[in-house]
Amino acid sequence: MQSRPEPLLDELYRELILDHYKRPRNHSIPANAQVRAEGYNPVCGDEVDMGIIFDGDTVADLGLAGRGCSISQASGSMMSELVKGKSVAEIRRLTDEFKTMLTNPEQGVPEDLGDLEALQGVGKFAVRVKCATLAWHTLADGIEQHERGDGVVTHEEA
Ligand code: ZN
Repeated sequence: MQSRPEPLLDELYRELILDHYKRPRNHSIPANAQVRAEGYNPVCGDEVDMGIIFDGDTVADLGLAGRGCSISQASGSMMSELVKGKSVAEIRRLTDEFKTMLTNPEQGVPEDLGDLEALQGVGKFAVRVKCATLAWHTLADGIEQHERGDGVVTHEEA
């Protein structure tokens, strides 16, 4: 008899988060980025700096830099892998899915979030949700700036 049904899965998720934290993917700002977006989560001190290259309404490339807790940085790394090459409409849909996974866990985990499913447990800790969503909100601001024709934007978690 086990008191917890999925200890192995928890451990795999923890390793996946640490792997993205220690070896963040897309961890450099593209020199020719069309949009720069900065995000800050004052509750935890997390920072994300993002450069985005658009091709029409597709995010052709993006790179991140930043510092902060493992959840904030791993979420940005996982997100960068997921959204590269996807359209703005698709990214908005994935953003909604990711936020729903955190805030309404009873709806289950969507299948198209890739490594981000490792962050599903974060929803149990309200204060950490802002860590997990920081990179996503920063990207959303960057996309809005692109649509408005501006270049640099700063996002601060409220
Ligand atoms: Zn954090």
